[in-house]
Amino acid sequence: MENNKKGILIIGAGGVSTVATMKCAMNIDTFEKITLASRTLMKCANIKRQIKEKINVDIKIAMVDADKTKELIKLIEKVNPKVVLNVALPYQDLTIMDACSATGTHYIDTANYEHPDEAKFEYKEQWARNDDFESNNLTALLGSGFDPGVTGVFVKYAEQNLLDTIEYIDIMDCNAGDHGYPFATNFNPEINLREVSANGRYWEEGKWIETKPLEIRVDHNYPEIGVKASYLLYHEELESLCKNIKGVKRIRFFMTFGDAYIQHMNCLQNVGMLGIKEVEHNGQKIVPIEFLATLLPDPSSLGERTVGKTNIGCIMEGIKDGVRKKFYIYQICDHQESYKETGAQAVSYTTGVPAMIGTKLVYNGTWDLNGTVNIEEFDANPFMDELMSQGLPWKVLEMEV
Ligand code: NDP
Repeated sequence: MENNKKGILIIGAGGVSTVATMKCAMNIDTFEKITLASRTLMKCANIKRQIKEKINVDIKIAMVDADKTKELIKLIEKVNPKVVLNVALPYQDLTIMDACSATGTHYIDTANYEHPDEAKFEYKEQWARNDDFESNNLTALLGSGFDPGVTGVFVKYAEQNLLDTIEYIDIMDCNAGDHGYPFATNFNPEINLREVSANGRYWEEGKWIETKPLEIRVDHNYPEIGVKASYLLYHEELESLCKNIKGVKRIRFFMTFGDAYIQHMNCLQNVGMLGIKEVEHNGQKIVPIEFLATLLPDPSSLGERTVGKTNIGCIMEGIKDGVRKKFYIYQICDHQESYKETGAQAVSYTTGVPAMIGTKLVYNGTWDLNGTVNIEEFDANPFMDELMSQGLPWKVLEMEV
């Protein structure tokens, strides 16, 4: 089906796309031809210009409303790419997947499907499309950002190389960057605030345990950053990891938040500004969280002013040759270095680089599982090698049990 197909079509032109598209252009030997499409053509034109100026690679651009499957099919048929990388919003996952399976095109994304009217994300509807991809010998790689994405690869790497069985997994996500604003989010504000203000949840002994938002706090010492308050959140990779990592007893996800962020978020929550249902204002209908996103700084504008580092990693405890062992695999990324290379801060960088790597491995046939496949189902080793050479070097630390 894909014989005469060539090149990559990237959908979405925000912060993550700025990095992913630039990194694809740096790997033009693999991708051959790059087309970037989004709802606002001007955003595609800006990314195109930056890539031309920085590394002298030409990309094509197009306009598309990715909520409309027919429009997507028309564009994919015209561009005829081998793969589509979806770095628009989670709301567009299903329409883009459907357009890919209809046109015989591999699909990659970084976030699982969410309905705009319900603050809830799960893989159910994406996994239900397995046969559409499998029967056409196509790959739909789900979750190739950092978390989900690299975190799943770290776990799989530990399973393949460090431990015979993994019993406990803690995913630790720290952004110690400072952008100087009293309140701003590092990626799409609507998606970010919906995630953080929701109930927490973790998986233990075969069951989900629900917590109130930010109810569980640990103070964790992040290598090269220091001790930071970290809060338990539900995060989408927990749903696939508890299914794919055999023998695991508990999986949790923690993210750091400063006091100022939490105070602002609580206040916005209390006054109804995080609401996702329409309200009437002066005869007009508005969705409070969408209006808030309009007021907040555009995440893609934070790059220049953000200093500090991120450290995201997985602590995994289990058994190797009958002995209990614990390993911490982590990656540290510097906001200003990311900005100098791509014009975007580290949160976009740490998502955009793995999005390119996952796409590259599907594009060149290294990863060739068909159907809807979560990242930890693939061989982790080629991805880990790419991380080292594409700007996200990682470290392994053996910890005391
Ligand atoms: P942005 O809001 O910066 O960018 C989103 C882009 O998608 C914009 O260019 C937007 O266009 C475009 N878009 C939105 N709706 C449509 C549509 N209907 N048709 C076409 N284009 C559309 O988001 P980010 O770059 O911060 O995030 C991108 C994705 O990455 C999100 O899904 C996010 O959840 C995910 N992510 C994943 C992470 C991970 O580690 N796995 C971490 C961070 C983010 P317009 O400007 O016209 O609205």
